[in-house]
Amino acid sequence: MHELAVTEDILRIVTEHATGAGTHHVTDIHLVIGDMSSFVNDSIQFYFDLISPGTVAQGATLHFHRQAVRFRCWQCGQEFSPTKLDWVCPKCHALGGKVLAGKEFYVESIEVQ
Ligand SMILES: [Zn+2]
Repeated sequence: MHELAVTEDILRIVTEHATGAGTHHVTDIHLVIGDMSSFVNDSIQFYFDLISPGTVAQGATLHFHRQAVRFRCWQCGQEFSPTKLDWVCPKCHALGGKVLAGKEFYVESIEVQ
């Protein structure tokens, strides 16, 4: 159910920016979602359709930009993109690393009319 809270956050941010820009009609909302986050596009879209009517974002198109996961190896510092099954450094074969990207979730930009 946490997609609902997240979608409410998105709507609040978009409304604030739209109001600040003096517009009442948002046409597009660009979201960045890390592949490591558990948010599902369809759920966010579902809640958005549910709660956006009557707001400045009514009828706006959601664009989902997935951010690939990037690790930095603990052992040798090599940066790499792990797959779901393989978190092994391609250089030294150590397992895992520090997460550089893939956990993000934010509103990248909005388009207004
Ligand atoms: Zn390594």
